[in-house]
Amino acid sequence: MLPSRGEVEGRVQNQTDFKEAFDALRELALDVRWSWSHATDTIWQALDAEMWALTRNPWAIMRSVARDRIRTLLSDPEFSTNLNAQLAESRRLRLAPGWFQETHPNSGLRTVAYFSAEFMLDEALPLYSGGLGNVAGDQLKAASDLGVPVVGVGLLYARGYFRQSITPDGRQEALYPVNEPDQLPLRPLREPSGEWLRLELELPGYRLWVRTWEVQVGRTKLFLLDLNDPANPPAYRCITSELYGDGPETRLKQEMVLGIGGWRLLRAIGLNPEICHLNEGHVAFATLERARFFMQDHGVPFAEALLATRAGNLFTTHTAVTEGVDRFPPDMMARFFRRYAEKELGISVEEFLALGRSDPRNASEPFNMAYLAVRASGAVTGVSAPHERVSKLVFRPLFPRWPLAEVPIGHVTNGVHVPTWDSAAADTFWTEVAGKDRWRGDLAGHEAAIRDAPPARIWQMRTEGRRQLVEEVRGRCARQLAEDGAPEAEIDAVHAIFDSDALTLGFARRFATYKRPDLLLFDPERLVHLLTDRQRPVQLIVAGKAHPRDIASQALIKLWTDFTKREDVRSRVVFLRDYNMQLAQQLVQGVDVWINTPRRPWEASGTSGMKVLVNGGLNLSEIDGWWAEAFAPDVGWAIGDGGEHDDIIDLDRREAVELYAHLERDVVPEFYERDASGVPLRWVDRIRESMARLTPRFSANRAVREYTEDFYLPGVRAHAARTAKGGEAAHALCQWKAQVSRCWPHVHFGEIRTTTADGEHVFSVEVYLGDVPVESVRVELYADAVGRWPVFKGGMERLLPAIPSDGWNLYSAHVPAERPVSDFTARIVPFHPDLSVPLEAGEILWQR
Ligand SMILES: *Cc1c(COP(=O)(O)O)cnc(C)c1O
Repeated sequence: MLPSRGEVEGRVQNQTDFKEAFDALRELALDVRWSWSHATDTIWQALDAEMWALTRNPWAIMRSVARDRIRTLLSDPEFSTNLNAQLAESRRLRLAPGWFQETHPNSGLRTVAYFSAEFMLDEALPLYSGGLGNVAGDQLKAASDLGVPVVGVGLLYARGYFRQSITPDGRQEALYPVNEPDQLPLRPLREPSGEWLRLELELPGYRLWVRTWEVQVGRTKLFLLDLNDPANPPAYRCITSELYGDGPETRLKQEMVLGIGGWRLLRAIGLNPEICHLNEGHVAFATLERARFFMQDHGVPFAEALLATRAGNLFTTHTAVTEGVDRFPPDMMARFFRRYAEKELGISVEEFLALGRSDPRNASEPFNMAYLAVRASGAVTGVSAPHERVSKLVFRPLFPRWPLAEVPIGHVTNGVHVPTWDSAAADTFWTEVAGKDRWRGDLAGHEAAIRDAPPARIWQMRTEGRRQLVEEVRGRCARQLAEDGAPEAEIDAVHAIFDSDALTLGFARRFATYKRPDLLLFDPERLVHLLTDRQRPVQLIVAGKAHPRDIASQALIKLWTDFTKREDVRSRVVFLRDYNMQLAQQLVQGVDVWINTPRRPWEASGTSGMKVLVNGGLNLSEIDGWWAEAFAPDVGWAIGDGGEHDDIIDLDRREAVELYAHLERDVVPEFYERDASGVPLRWVDRIRESMARLTPRFSANRAVREYTEDFYLPGVRAHAARTAKGGEAAHALCQWKAQVSRCWPHVHFGEIRTTTADGEHVFSVEVYLGDVPVESVRVELYADAVGRWPVFKGGMERLLPAIPSDGWNLYSAHVPAERPVSDFTARIVPFHPDLSVPLEAGEILWQR
């Protein structure tokens, strides 16, 4: 029987409905906003509950779900209404003006390109190893929340970073499951014609195809590159297989693909970012390709192009030691870059290599990527206040003869993307007190709002978070035992470990010796004593990976796994395998206290401790990195004296004792001190202060606003000034710099005279400037910090000469005669209103 006309129309209608719904689901599944907004969770759960529980990857669900399942769900009005509402909301959020549009209209900032070797956005897109990727991912998300026009640029690693398994006898095994692009929430980046955008890149003797991808991150995008293209020879297809996986040559090739290929990608899709933010030195080649495009666009030489564009580059360093930076042997660099330097940049290989050396004339010095980044940027930042100081030591060789304090490095303290790390219970609580859009604008009212919350309400949130975690710990332990082939009875027994109401400590991080993951085990019996107290029990969760080549840290994992097998503590302490983003989320949402024990001053910032704040967790940590800024006695506990010590054996012993003492004396008693209704009031006071004061301050929202206002926007203005009219200003600045460095060797001091009268020292000094114009220098009086005296720095005034004086000038200054004359010395430094000194002109001449 033929279908009636009505039936045909109905079917066509259903077809279009289905297609629309299917497209809506695809759109939502491909926007990783689901990693921090749980509004669409019910949709994925309805499509495939099991897959959702196991992977939390909506795109993997979309790739496998049957069309009939979708059809069935669509006939449920509740499901369709929700789907339409979520799609509308996601589109609204992408287009609505954000904090940036409202606060900085007409700023001239259209695009910030954020380059990073790692991005930690979600476990469904595992392209990270740890903290560096965390910072990148969280900032990208916060930029989306705030409307700051950031695009990320990174690599798509076919096998990512290693995954951890532990053998029954406690050895770490490194596993490399494949990231199938098909299952990842990304899609090929297509040209308007529909063709997949592929870029070309030259390596010596080869032309490579670089594939391109895009990930939707709320209103921002992350672009990824990889080489796993069938058109490439096999050895080259594997270059982008692993993150930090292979030797230096692979690393160098990865960095070429990311830096050079990354900038080409942006240009190929019509973006010409005003700001390029380099997240660590790995990505510094982007600055060269940016300069090359400027050369090509305006027909200027490399030096001018670099000077013009660097005003729009910002370099953020994350390492605390020189050894932490990528350095490549000169011959390897020459092999890979000779052609690029000579043909593309029009400079010699020697000039090229000098960009990555502290001493440009030292032909044996390796090429340091962070040095290149400093030389090619308009500003440099560390990631916390202590890290700014440490970084000054790392980069001091680039600014010889400058006082350490004047090494041009600032800082923006890291922050975490709060909605990514809060628990469902914390989300509900914060929504009650601070509203739904609380992380999308400035955070002015949050502190007061949290202070108003009743103690019982805070404690309820905390208890829910802990209970959830205890369930997860049991489930994970059962799976671990099953993996080991344990008998069923033993697996069942796991459901009795841990106590939902007991004080829960968490310690999870990369196992590296400087992080001292064994500090808690310094005196195992003292720890056992804490854990097994019958009245006031304590439970501890430990997790962490050690680098596959770091044998010493792998031994520390075994130390812990052996400890967890002791009969007396096995129901109180667990080692959870494969520390990753998902496990980190579960831990920071549930623990009462997060412990961190790095050896000072190695922790540049640290971010895991920030993740517990929103959930009402408290920190017990070494005074280093962010905690050096955040700690106050009413928000948590600190170990260490904030100084550095050479005798590390003695230091470790002392700090271990401090750690136990805090736990025994402060943490445990306070947690178990309850009022009539069972609420630990002093503990809740502490939570309230920690949540109210620290959560907003250590959020990525604050960090991104700070980057925007203190660096991106000034960078836009400087960059616009230098690049206007084909780089006229940059051309003039280049000539100015050349003149200053040409004439500098002739600049010298003549006589200096001092008199003291009426409580004042008067210094007058003769200065020979030769052909350097007087307006191109500053003559300054300087004194180091001595005892209670801080550093003194003041300009000296030029006295007009009575007779013209062939290059000689007289400068003078008055200072209060509080410090001895011998503390003071004069110095000459270059000065130009449009150049940053010493970052861009590092000459300095001391009188003595
Ligand atoms: C947050 C996080 C880190 C960084 O933590 P720190 O120990 O503070 O450096 C590393 N790995 C994972 C999986 C994280 O979630």
